[in-house]
Amino acid sequence: MKESRMTRLSDLTTLRIGGEIATYVEAASEEEIITAVQQADDDGAPLLVLGGGSNVVASDERFEGVVVRDVRTGMTDMNPNEEGSCCGGAALNVVAGQPWDDVVQLAIAEEWMGIEALSGIPGSTGATPIQNVGAYGQEVAETLSSIRVWDRLERRPRLIALFEMQLGYRDSMMKRTLHSAEAGGGRIWGPTGRYVVLDVNFSFRLASLSAPIRYAELARTLDVAVGERVPSSEVRKAVLQLRRGKGMVLDAADHDTWSAGSFFTNPILSEKAAAALPADAPRYEVRDHTAVRQIGGQAPVVPGLVKTSAAWLIDHAGFTKGFGMPGPAALSTKHVLALTNRGEATASDIRALADQVQKGVADAFGVELVPEPVYL
Ligand SMILES: Cc1cc2nc3c(=O)[nH]c(=O)nc-3n(C[C@H](O)[C@H](O)[C@H](O)COP(=O)(O)OP(=O)(O)OC[C@H]3O[C@@H](n4cnc5c(N)ncnc54)[C@H](O)[C@@H]3O)c2cc1C
Repeated sequence: MKESRMTRLSDLTTLRIGGEIATYVEAASEEEIITAVQQADDDGAPLLVLGGGSNVVASDERFEGVVVRDVRTGMTDMNPNEEGSCCGGAALNVVAGQPWDDVVQLAIAEEWMGIEALSGIPGSTGATPIQNVGAYGQEVAETLSSIRVWDRLERRPRLIALFEMQLGYRDSMMKRTLHSAEAGGGRIWGPTGRYVVLDVNFSFRLASLSAPIRYAELARTLDVAVGERVPSSEVRKAVLQLRRGKGMVLDAADHDTWSAGSFFTNPILSEKAAAALPADAPRYEVRDHTAVRQIGGQAPVVPGLVKTSAAWLIDHAGFTKGFGMPGPAALSTKHVLALTNRGEATASDIRALADQVQKGVADAFGVELVPEPVYL
């Protein structure tokens, strides 16, 4: 276990903001993670278990607690028999610290279907179930089978099955422990929730073809119709091309990628609230992707709810690409949904910009935008 008192959160987060850390631990084994977490909990110190730092907005002030970074890697095929499959599928165990995009690349190489559209998302595998990461019509909920966690309340390791995770759009039971005492067993946790993910289990179908393409922009890029399937490697290529065009692949030289990705979730509204939006505002069905059980199966529509586009609302409220420039914090020049650090931004600059955008959208459309990253 490497312990240091010098590191700053700005060195560990993709927004590159954040103050000094009182205690920083790099944990290279499961035992080291659990020891560091227990020590922080015993001392009553704030605890931040950090992966890639791609979904946090740190504060400029010194973090008077313990930051634990899981530096372990490892991906294990759980059923390598002659056919390389189990019950017609594949099972993969990944330690939490493993960078997520390595898992996508392995799955495509092994012809395991279902995460190809999640190419290029930064961060660790352990963080993916927390907000049920998703992109281009896919969510990690569709291939997760279970997670093994350290339960900070019961102070023991636990296996959490897929149905217990209650995964929804950028949401999970684990994430809700950050805000809800009910989900957290009587206590609100944070900035890391009640459950520290130790490793993640996936269950894949075998196919060199992708899952059916659900996202219209991706289908157009691939020159196929929505619902068609193409080689997964082509999906990866197209997704990475689309993401690069929006500044959504990390690139140290490109300030448009000094962000936490999409800063606000797409609002899910009641039918009545959605009807009050301008006629040309996007309106999408809300679908439960966790309920898909077969290739090509349609996710059932969740009745009474309508999803709209946060980017459309922001843009039409007058916050266009690059808004805020030449200031230190500005909207990305490629994508209005990313709040970016142009080089010298502080956490206060990012928060002020986020507040301004939220207020502008609320004034223009009566919709409350919800930030996606975890605020420290
Ligand atoms: C350029 C860019 C593009 C992005 N694109 C997408 C996208 O397309 N789709 C999408 O869903 N997200 C996207 N994101 C957001 C982010 O990459 C994901 O949410 C990612 O899963 C966060 O992983 P991380 O390891 O960086 O988490 P961190 O930022 O390190 O942590 C985020 C939260 O998760 C908790 N956490 C991390 N690891 C663990 C663990 N092992 N156990 C318990 N809690 C843990 C932290 O404590 C914290 O509360 C993007 C971000 C950026 C910067």
